[in-house]
This record gives sequence, structure tokens and C-alpha cells, in this order.
Amino acid sequence: MAKVYFAPARAKKWNYHDSMPGKLERLLQGIGLMHYFSPDEWVAIKTHFGSEGAHRIIRPVFLRKISDALKKIGAKPFVTDTVRIKGLDYLEVANQNGINHLSVGAPVVLADGLYGNDNIMVRAGEILGEVAVASVIHDVPAMVVCSHVKGHINSGYAGALKNMAMGGVSSAHRTCGWKCGRGSMHTIGEGEMVWDAEKCELCNQCRDVCPLDAITFRDDELVWDGDVCWRCGRCERVCQSESLTLPGEDKRFMHSLAEAAKAVMSTFEPGKILYVNFLTEIQPECDCMPAADVPVIQDLGILISEDIVAVEQASIDMLAAAEPLPQSLASDKQIRKGDNILGKLHHKPYLLQLEEAEKLGLGARKYELAGI
Ligand code: SF4
Ligand code: SF4
Repeated sequence: MAKVYFAPARAKKWNYHDSMPGKLERLLQGIGLMHYFSPDEWVAIKTHFGSEGAHRIIRPVFLRKISDALKKIGAKPFVTDTVRIKGLDYLEVANQNGINHLSVGAPVVLADGLYGNDNIMVRAGEILGEVAVASVIHDVPAMVVCSHVKGHINSGYAGALKNMAMGGVSSAHRTCGWKCGRGSMHTIGEGEMVWDAEKCELCNQCRDVCPLDAITFRDDELVWDGDVCWRCGRCERVCQSESLTLPGEDKRFMHSLAEAAKAVMSTFEPGKILYVNFLTEIQPECDCMPAADVPVIQDLGILISEDIVAVEQASIDMLAAAEPLPQSLASDKQIRKGDNILGKLHHKPYLLQLEEAEKLGLGARKYELAGI
């Protein structure tokens, strides 16, 4: 049975030992990084840089603890993420959110280049065929996957599987575009956006939120560039009048996440990836949205495992036992104690991600929780 190590968020004593950074340091010692990584080995610390307005990412101090722990055993860490907006702008977002060489104690690099199209096609599975895995993630021999647990427009729950799948795959491939990239998971290939002119309030929010400028308005008519759009769903999410509909099918989407995660994992030798899930600042939406709403669940802690499915199941079990926070989207939606909070926020069958990942042999949902 897979072991998942846990450190709770509460600090009940006023000393470093009982702080979250202190506990993370002990978790990393406890799991024994030297069993996974070697001296002089390059190790990617995969995180999400956030967006200009989404500040509730994994805090740089935690990335620093991981990079320091890796350096202590002689490994050579660097912090990375795939490009979401233009590469130079994304590096600046990282910097603004506190992630830079000085703060995290390691180089900060883009996993798929300044243009987000430096990637290598890898076999995923029956649904996706092949996907464009970011070349840095494809080539690096070892990785610590730091995942900020939160809600998500499309996946309902976002943790390590989504971080590996959508975060390890580029938004587009140099020749086959978004259809080989992250967008292939969003809508599973083809499909057109539908705009309801009757309902549209011409607020322009969909245009402004689009990272690829795929939406414009001409004479009060929405013009959508289906070749540019990689079907991230942000425009649909921000539209308050439900005027936009993107194609998509939840079950296939959840399964495609598991397939893409498998593709990314397949580029590593067994035992070369560790998964660290941060159940902190659990906001209702993804870190790439233009703003971060207040958390819907109180900070719960940090989980580490070598098993991606086990760490995800443990995270979901903890969320299931949590209480919704007042003055949050959860209370706006009258979600109560005992409810499936992320389930009621997004109405997505997110457990399918784990079921499919287990079927594909990525790990096991049964786990043993160990403290530090
Ligand atoms: S789904 Fe919407 S926001 Fe995302 S790229 Fe397409 S048009 Fe832009
Ligand atoms: S966000 Fe919705 S209401 Fe606003 S312009 Fe776009 S489609 Fe229209």
C-alpha cells in the first residue's frame, strides 16, 4: 500500500519546528530524498507560476525548502512551469508572484521555451493519441511535482494529476497546434464555441480573459478564432450571462487527464518523481485565472508521496472532511458542512481522474497516511 506523508497546517506552538516551512523540511527529510535523486542529478521542481492577479499559488518559501533539501543531497534543482501566456510575460508573472532565482534558490526556467512550443510528442492513449510534452520535463531525469490543490473550471478538483497532465503538456505544438497540446484535453479535439447574441451583455470579459486574443467584437458581434483558441474554458467561466458554450464531455475529459499524466510520467524512469500536494489557500478556481477568490476551505497541510494516485486520494479525502469557509464562494452557494465542496462548486465528476489513473497503472487509491 502506498505511503502518503502528511504535515498539518495548524501551528500550535510558536516555533519554527511547528511552522509549515519547518514541517515541510521534516517531511522531505522523512521521505529520504536520496532514495529518489542522485548527486549532480538535475531535478525539476514543477510548480504553477500563477497569473498577474492570481496570487494564491504555492508560496516561494516552500519551493525554497524543496530546492534547499535537494541541494543538501547534492542534486541540482531548478523551478519550472509550462508557458500559459507569452513566455517573457510569464517569467515576469513568476517574478511578481515572488518566484525567482534569489527567492527559490535555483534557476527558474520555462519548461517549453519562450514560445511555448518547445515540446516532444509522446504516446498518451486511446483518447488523446499523442500529446506534446514540454521538452524540459521530457528530458529531465527527475522531478518534484508541487501541486496547489484547488477547484477548477473543467476538472472540478485540481491536484497532481492535472498538474502533470495540463502542466506537463504545452498549450500547442509547433505544427499541429493546440490539438496536440493542452487544448486537446479541454475539448477532446474538435468542436466550435457557441455564442448566444440574445443573452450577451457585451461586457467584454470573455475577450479580456482570453490569453490568446481568440475573441474580438466587431459591430457588437463576437468573432471567435477557432484555430487560435485552445479551448481553456476561461471565457465560458467568466461570462455571467451564460452566453458562451464550449464543447466538452466530462467523462472523456477526466480520462484524458489521466492519459496525459501517464504520457508525462512515461518520460521518467520509475521512482524518479515525488508528488507534493499543498492543501493551502484552497481557492475555487485554477491558478491561471485572472484573479484568485478567497479560499473555500481552510489550509489543511502538505502531503508527499511517490504515488500520484495515492496522494490525490488522500488530498480528496481531506477535502471531503473539511468545512466550507464563511464569506467565500462556498457560502455564497450555501454549501454546508458535510457537502462535497468542490463537487458542489463545479459539478464535475473529478473522482474519474483517479479511477482512470489507477486503471492505467499510475498508482493506487489505497494508501497509508504517515505523520512526521
Ligand atoms: S476557450 Fe475562450 S478564453 Fe480560452 S483560448 Fe479559447 S476563446 Fe480564449
Ligand atoms: S463575457 Fe459573456 S456577456 Fe460578456 S461579452 Fe462575453 S459573451 Fe457577452
